[in-house]
Amino acid sequence: MTKGLQIINAYIEEYPLYHEFIKILKDVFILRQESASKHKENIFPLDEKTAEQKLSAGNSLVNMNQDAFSPFLPQQYFLELLTMRNPGSAEDIKRKLLAGELDYEELIRKSFTIPKAACIAVEEDDEAFDLLDFLLKESMHPFFALLTQEYKALIAGSKWSKGRCPVCGQEASLSFLKTEEEGKRYLFCAQCALEWAVNRIQCPFCDNEKQQKLGFFTIGNDEKYRVYICHQCKKYIKTIDTRKVPGQMDLEVENLITLHLDILARKEGYF
Ligand SMILES: [Zn+2]
Ligand SMILES: [Zn+2]
Repeated sequence: MTKGLQIINAYIEEYPLYHEFIKILKDVFILRQESASKHKENIFPLDEKTAEQKLSAGNSLVNMNQDAFSPFLPQQYFLELLTMRNPGSAEDIKRKLLAGELDYEELIRKSFTIPKAACIAVEEDDEAFDLLDFLLKESMHPFFALLTQEYKALIAGSKWSKGRCPVCGQEASLSFLKTEEEGKRYLFCAQCALEWAVNRIQCPFCDNEKQQKLGFFTIGNDEKYRVYICHQCKKYIKTIDTRKVPGQMDLEVENLITLHLDILARKEGYF
């Protein structure tokens, strides 16, 4: 699934309601590519052996609560992102970061400890999307994506089948079904650009396999999207049936244009 700007433009036409979000993502993709070509260094002190040990112990390659990393390059990219999009308090944040009054590392660690989609407000009058938090997480994207590239084969070999991402440890952003392998479902982490396979009829968060405790809902006649829910752990995962997608798709864009599903699932008491 390539990330051509053509695909993004097609989304903008198809989803006018999400026009603004998709345009933000388009700008981010352009800046991300520039950043990725400049910053090719691994900011995490990780080697093959440690990576293997972490995965076999069921731990993600990076634990943002405690693992060391070098914040210099992501902070630089964050400043570029703020300049590009200028969310409300951007100037103030930039000034404070440069003056050392704000600590980037502290901000980013805090952002990662907030559970999935916490920036999506459930109350209707709240902002549905936290641009600042989105840009903050984006500032780590190129560096997690480098880990994904480096350890993709190791992860595949480890048969990781949890709902958490094996690279960054955050819960999967969404899942998707493919035609070919009926028994499998694929999870996707937007933070790390990683896809991994899990059992289709099992909750990836608590391993529940009891059919009566699993379910899904759809919205109206839209067959492309489902929200799978688990009555045991109360978690949900947005799911795309790629068999219902005629053209090319981009999972990061899909994650953003399905914010209404996150809001709905949260209103129903799932998280
Ligand atoms: Zn991840
Ligand atoms: Zn569950």
